[in-house]
Amino acid sequence: MKSAQALDQDHFRDELSNVDKKGKRLWIHPKKPKGSFYNYRTWFSWFLMALMFIGPFLKLNDRPLLLLNVLERKFIIFGMVFWPQDLNLFALLMLSFILFIVLFTVLFGRVWCGWACPQTIFMEMLFRKVEYLIDGDSAQQKKLANQEWNTEKITKRVLKHTLFWILSFVIANTFLGYIIGIDELKLMVTDGPLAHIGKFISLSIFTTVFYFVFASLRELVCIFICPYGRLQGLMLDKNSMVVAYDFVRGEPRGKMKKGEESPKGDCIDCKLCVNVCPTGIDIRNGTQLECINCTACIDACDEVMVKIEKPKGLVRFASLNNITEGKKLKLNLRNGAYGVVLIALLSVFVYLLTTRKLVETTLLRTPGMLYQKTADGNISNLYTIEFVNKTFDELPITLQIIEPAGSEIKMVEGDNVVVHKESVGKVSFFLQMKPENIKKLNTPVRIQVLSNGKLIEEMKSKFNGPIFK
Ligand code: SF4
Ligand code: SF4
Repeated sequence: MKSAQALDQDHFRDELSNVDKKGKRLWIHPKKPKGSFYNYRTWFSWFLMALMFIGPFLKLNDRPLLLLNVLERKFIIFGMVFWPQDLNLFALLMLSFILFIVLFTVLFGRVWCGWACPQTIFMEMLFRKVEYLIDGDSAQQKKLANQEWNTEKITKRVLKHTLFWILSFVIANTFLGYIIGIDELKLMVTDGPLAHIGKFISLSIFTTVFYFVFASLRELVCIFICPYGRLQGLMLDKNSMVVAYDFVRGEPRGKMKKGEESPKGDCIDCKLCVNVCPTGIDIRNGTQLECINCTACIDACDEVMVKIEKPKGLVRFASLNNITEGKKLKLNLRNGAYGVVLIALLSVFVYLLTTRKLVETTLLRTPGMLYQKTADGNISNLYTIEFVNKTFDELPITLQIIEPAGSEIKMVEGDNVVVHKESVGKVSFFLQMKPENIKKLNTPVRIQVLSNGKLIEEMKSKFNGPIFK
């Protein structure tokens, strides 16, 4: 959405707020935000960070509550183990999540970015706060950046970047905790890094990447790197609620002199909304890709409005239709369709999740082999069964032949088959038949897999053999 004035100022679309005319990056020093939205955001961020930092320590039945071990392709979500065999569930969950984000963005813009994205939370609530603490507010930061290297500047820079490094290290440990599990992480601490050199290298890489992101890249992640940010232009429409400047009320903008009853709009062009923006944009130019909906400009403008005794909300959460026609947020056909598809996907997901098998079996006749003749004159076929045990228990396995009658199973590696917990196992066996019982080239086979007398699965295959007439 664009203000009337912005229509004459479209040059802002040809420029980036954080790059000068020669293409050199301009460092953004946003003014420290304050206000009710910022307070809500702070509390919400602390809540999310607390969840994230204690997450690796939480266990259910002695298992991690959340483990995303991409290296071993093992995932535990709310105590349930997921394997590559559960890819369908994972794909559905991802699809539902993407659709949820799309639907959410269509309705409420990029609220996720400003309020829940780890990048923004860490940047604004940890690293930026450290920066304010050491370097001061925007003006002091600019002064420090432009001054000669002296003892004060060196001390502050060393202190700040040391703390940045420590924070990055803590975040990297937490992420690693979600990947390898907190027990493995503790082992690395107790045994020393040299005993777990691979994990230590991963930790060092994570730490360096996080440090680089928060000390240097910062808003560039939201503007250039994050695909979600770049896609938001496709999702927003005139009914989407976004952080917006009410140009109907605000324009024509102009400075307000003391005691002056201004005939102009409510915007006094103080630029406080620009000064607090962590991506350096002017929200009065309209909705822009760089806006992460952090609401800092709402707080800044509300404070100004209170001072000049005008109603709050010149910058507020609003849709274009809300500003131009006073229309409230309403659902349209597109939102409804997204919602229906989302509910359908989630229903399928819940159905698949509740009916998924905790032990999966696959029976294969050994490829490339026909049949063998045994010493006692029987015909045998070699089979392999692959088990995926997704439970936390050891499973003793027995096989029971249902069809063809008169056939017999001979396990290759003994009768005591146990599939270890949370693992994949294979067993091979011969199925033997008397030649006179073989009536077809491919005799149907049915085998039941039992554990502790309980049927796990019945599987089908074929028995290959010669026909004796
Ligand atoms: S324009 Fe406002 S809401 Fe958007 S990023 Fe800047 S300060 Fe945050
Ligand atoms: S803070 Fe409000 S009054 Fe000041 S420039 Fe921004 S929109 Fe105008």
